[in-house]
Amino acid sequence: LEKLLSERISDSYEMLDFIAPPEFRLTRLPNGLGFGDGTISGAEIDSKSLSLLEETIDTDSPEFLIPVEADDDGCSDGRPAISVFTKERILKRSLVRPKIFGGAVTMTAASRIGLGLTGDEYLQEVFVQAVDTLTDKDIHFGAHTGEHAHGEDCGCGAIDKAPEALNAVIKYEDPIRSAITLLGVESEGLDEVFGNYRYYWTDVMSKAVPYKGSEVMGKIVDSNAVVKKLGGEHLERRIVLNSVRDFTVNQELIRLITGGRAQVFGVDVWRLQDVAARLYPDNAVDQQKAVLSELVYTLATAAVLTKGDLPIDIIEPASS
Ligand SMILES: [Zn+2]
Repeated sequence: LEKLLSERISDSYEMLDFIAPPEFRLTRLPNGLGFGDGTISGAEIDSKSLSLLEETIDTDSPEFLIPVEADDDGCSDGRPAISVFTKERILKRSLVRPKIFGGAVTMTAASRIGLGLTGDEYLQEVFVQAVDTLTDKDIHFGAHTGEHAHGEDCGCGAIDKAPEALNAVIKYEDPIRSAITLLGVESEGLDEVFGNYRYYWTDVMSKAVPYKGSEVMGKIVDSNAVVKKLGGEHLERRIVLNSVRDFTVNQELIRLITGGRAQVFGVDVWRLQDVAARLYPDNAVDQQKAVLSELVYTLATAAVLTKGDLPIDIIEPASS
């Protein structure tokens, strides 16, 4: 592996100084969430790629965690970026940023629903308000499109499939609760969060107001966020939940090591916490409910996009 790694890296990378993450531990949940109706499957991987993937995401090879370079964020999507742009210009290089499903815009929308702050705003407006809230609070966020997206879709599943994700919150309430327990997350406030999601689904979403991911992306691009256009097919075979602050899983390394045969979803739990803390400063109760709202939406999105069989790797600082 070491040899393969150094060959592939020297072929395609300008070598950077390796900054080691602090010591961490890894907990592998081989069976994944166990619920989901999506098409992405953890089982669609050949045995060689699987062992390369498992050797790469390991406590013995800390280089799969890299420091973030940007103060915005991006989506958990494991596909490669084929271009990077803002409203005004094309950027030369793609920076490493923390990853959460749909970026901070989507997680802010989730927290507004979970905290019951939306009233009867229809879904399009919930996302517009999320962008405006982040802009007001000077919290930077990023997003992505997809080369195959067209029409009403922008190419980010966490945004395009927001109605389906909200439906999955209701449909999979019990397994989502179990997953949150399994992940060792404090569940204080979870009943209220589910109550607010349920209200939003039954009382607001039932009015069937049209929703378009492409319009959400239009609003994001107008805010001058950095947007990456992702290419190729979804080949995520694992979900990595990382709590090592200021580090993120090197999705490019995973694609490189497996010769493009496997990708991983990366979720930086510390970024979920930071977004919650900055959205609801000086209010520990709302911050806690915001983190739960983000997690509920994250797990529901995973259920929409995947079959629920992607193994989950939990990365935590050894000191915690
Ligand atoms: Zn996405």
